[in-house]
Amino acid sequence: RLYNEVIELKGNIRVFCRCRPLNAEEISNGSTAVIDFDSTQENELQIISSDSSRKHFKFDHVFKPEDSQEVVFLQTMPIVTSVLDGYNVCIFAYGQTGTGKTFTMEGTPENRGVNYRTLEELFKVSKERSSFMKYELFVSMLEVYNEKIRDLLIESSNQPAKKLEIKQSAEGTQEVPGLVETHVHSTDEVWELLKSGSRARSVGSTNANELSSRSHCLVRVTVVGENILNGQRTRSHLWLVDLAGSERVGRIEVEGERLKESQFINKSLSALGDVISALASKTTHIPYRNSKLTHMLQSSLGGDCKTLMFVQISPNSADFGETLCSLNFASRVR
Ligand code: ADP
Ligand code: MG
Repeated sequence: RLYNEVIELKGNIRVFCRCRPLNAEEISNGSTAVIDFDSTQENELQIISSDSSRKHFKFDHVFKPEDSQEVVFLQTMPIVTSVLDGYNVCIFAYGQTGTGKTFTMEGTPENRGVNYRTLEELFKVSKERSSFMKYELFVSMLEVYNEKIRDLLIESSNQPAKKLEIKQSAEGTQEVPGLVETHVHSTDEVWELLKSGSRARSVGSTNANELSSRSHCLVRVTVVGENILNGQRTRSHLWLVDLAGSERVGRIEVEGERLKESQFINKSLSALGDVISALASKTTHIPYRNSKLTHMLQSSLGGDCKTLMFVQISPNSADFGETLCSLNFASRVR
């Protein structure tokens, strides 16, 4: 079962758009939806302006508000499982706060997201291949806030907190020395680990949701594979990234810490956009070093690595401006 052949035909960078449903509050206050879906094309959507004009956008796939976590994962599965074939993979959730980035990646206990489902699938496929492949899986979890890297699994281990930096290895890959790597053996273990990492994400903040919307949360799955028949070994990374909220903060409204935060967020999100669009346009110079996020992911972005961006949007007319910005950002990287 080799997934990469199918992906190769489509190129290494893909963009999926996911629109959340109007929530109870929006429905009760009579909000209207400005996103319309094409009934015949499953990769197109339209955004409707106040003057009723429509702008069309095309993606590799468009998920409608009613699409379940299962449906989303089915499309994501071939990309994430290619890590078992030795590919490095990055999955990002991009969008305004409240559009479902965390819902897509982390999910809820009843509606588990891409992170958990991915590990579940990796365990399943490793078992299916056990007659010729031996796999070991390791999970790390970290946060990038104001261009500083923080280990989210350190609290659940007994190691002292360390300041994390990006170092280049002798092989030329980017490593984060000292980052906790937990060897995982079962989906139950993974669920507990991801939960404890997310709890650590909100430590040190008076308002957990506020902080989580201003930091990038990265889950790294390291796959070590050994072919039993020929002894060939592979080591690859899969990154599952819940990005900081992409909303623009008015300069007049914020100052001090908040201003610094929003500048760091803008810088890293635009650096990510620059890197992906440079890769898509096959430019030779890729500006990885412009942010901690892109620098850390350098070995997993470009070359024959697989990249998937979820662009999360709100259907609410009140979010029109931010939604249009996100759709434009997505078109730039595609
Ligand atoms: P973000 O991480 O982008 O700030 P969240 O993932 O926290 O957004 O989503 C905001 C709220 O909307 C949450 O209560 C979440 O459960 C809900 N939500 C988001 N996407 C969906 C969806 N596709 N279906 C149902 N509920 C959703
Ligand atoms: Mg979130």
